[in-house]
Order: sequence, then C-alpha cells, then structure tokens
Amino acid sequence: MRGLVTGGAGFIGSHLSEFLLARGCEVVCLDNLLTGAIENIDPLRSERFTFIKLDVTTYISVAGPLDYVLHFASPASPVDYLDLPIQTLKVGALGTHKALGLAKEKGARFLLASTSEVYGDPLVHPQREEYWGNVNPVGPRGVYDEAKRFAEALTMAYHRAHGLDTRIVRIFNSFAPRMRMHDGRAIPTFITQALQGRPLTVNGDGTQTRSLMYIPDLIEGICRLMQAPVHDPVNLGNPQEMTILDLAKAILRLTGSASPIVFRPAGADDPKVRQPDIGRARQLLGWEPQVEVEEGLRRTIEWFRGRLG
Ligand code: UDP
Repeated sequence: MRGLVTGGAGFIGSHLSEFLLARGCEVVCLDNLLTGAIENIDPLRSERFTFIKLDVTTYISVAGPLDYVLHFASPASPVDYLDLPIQTLKVGALGTHKALGLAKEKGARFLLASTSEVYGDPLVHPQREEYWGNVNPVGPRGVYDEAKRFAEALTMAYHRAHGLDTRIVRIFNSFAPRMRMHDGRAIPTFITQALQGRPLTVNGDGTQTRSLMYIPDLIEGICRLMQAPVHDPVNLGNPQEMTILDLAKAILRLTGSASPIVFRPAGADDPKVRQPDIGRARQLLGWEPQVEVEEGLRRTIEWFRGRLG
C-alpha cells in the first residue's frame, strides 16, 4: 500500500504517517512547512518514506501509483488561521481540489480531514453529523470553518460526479505529544504555562466546553474509516466534555504546578460548547476512544517536560 499525506509534517499528519509506516505502508509526505515542522518527520525518514516540500494549492504531480490520498494540509490552530487567513482558505479550497484531482488520476481512495468547526458555534448539542452548523462566514474564524465546509462539498461532488471513493472525517479537538509549544491552543499553552510557573490564560469565563481526544484514538478511527464504505461525514472525537476552566485545573493538578489562573477576554465567535455524537462511528466502525483524557494529558505533559528540560 502506498499513501500520500498532505500536511504530513504537521501535528496530525506526522502521527498518521508514523502509523502507516509502522503498518508497512509506503508514505509520500507533502508539506510546505508553513505550520508543519521538519522535526516531526525527521524520525520517519526511511526507504519507505518520501518527503516533498510543496504547497498543495499548486499542481501536484507524484510519480508512481497511490492507493490512498489523505488530505490533512491546513493551518488548524485558531492563532495560525487568524494569522494566515488567505492560505487557510486556499488550502481548503484549491488544495482540496488538487488533492482530489490527484486521487482521481491515480484511482486512489481519498480522505478529507474535516473538523468539528463545520458546526461553528453549535445550536444543537451534542453535534450529530446531520446538523448543518452555525457558522459566521465573515467572522475571523470563518476562514477555517468555511474552507472546510467547501472542502466537504467538493469532496462529495467528486464522489457523486466522478464516482471517486471518498471519506470525510470530522475531527474534534485532539491532542498528544508533538503539539507545538506556541501553537496557541489550550492544551499546549496551559501545559507550557504550568511547567514554566507562568499564569494559565483562560479565555472568557472558562465555561466554554470542549471534548478532547488523544491522537492514537483518532488514528485508529481514521484507519477503520478508510476500510469502511462510508462516504458521508463521520465524527471522530471523545464525548467526554469538559469546561476550559476544568481543563486548566486538571493541568495544574497533573503537573503539580502552583501557577495562578488568569482570565482574558473571550475570542470572537469562540464556540461555547462542543461535544461529538459518535453514534455513527460506533455503529459503522465499531469505534470509540480508548484513552481517558487524564491519561492522555499525563503522557502529553511528560513529553512537554522533556522538551522544556
Ligand atoms: N483557550 C484559552 N486559553 C488559551 C488558549 C485557548 O482559554 O490560552 C480556550 C479557547 O478560547 C477555546 C478553548 O480554549 O475556548 C479551546 O481552544 P483551542 O484553541 O484549543 O481550540 P478550538 O476548539 O477553539 O479550535
């Protein structure tokens, strides 16, 4: 099996590439290193791994056959996509078009990494795949949300019009070692702050919720989805919901840090709640998360501790 991962040097892309290599696959990794990092893939270098530095919004040409095209390229942290609004829209729109075109050319199965952000600030809770979402197209987060919504529409169009064998995974908040320290997302930010004895910066009053999944669970779900003939979107996330304030407190407890918690103004359009309904994944893939949030946090904290010396 030979798979191509766009965004393969990114956080999720590199975990996925590592998994595929361990399963004996050949991996072609495309990344322009805008938010990905070469250190993520340095340990993966082998005969079965090829890295091509490329912006996937341009024409993609890859020699040899491909069984899978896995499209993970995109800025994904709010800090990044607020900073890179046009690149974010381009990779979701033009990048998805190029990746779909490549899959069609090679007769490969295609997977789109979509996101719970397609639900925006949801008015339905928990979020089922049938829910169409509540997105502000012109707000600062709209660049990511709408890019992924367009990407889903284009993927379904390629499936319907060209018969392409496609999958769409809606990924809820996930975490693991290898998240960037200054990525801006809650988990790496809080862990770094706690380990360095700095205040933990909670946005708003911290009552907004998220549901956090440890990455190996996500990777397992993606692999099962690739093997199942399911073309409609599938949520993958951990239904264990918690407030951001409770997350900050858990990180203080698990790190043994005495850092205070400080409150900052809430970000524009910051979703107030988020929790996946994983009924579809349970039923069609026999999948549910195996790793408790606390256990995942412990492992992630240890990794950050090692990095921070
Ligand atoms: N957040 C926070 N402090 C930080 C970073 C994030 O309180 O330093 C909040 C953020 O406002 C949001 C939640 O944590 O309500 C999750 O944010 P993250 O960036 O991790 O992911 P999102 O789900 O917003 O994409």
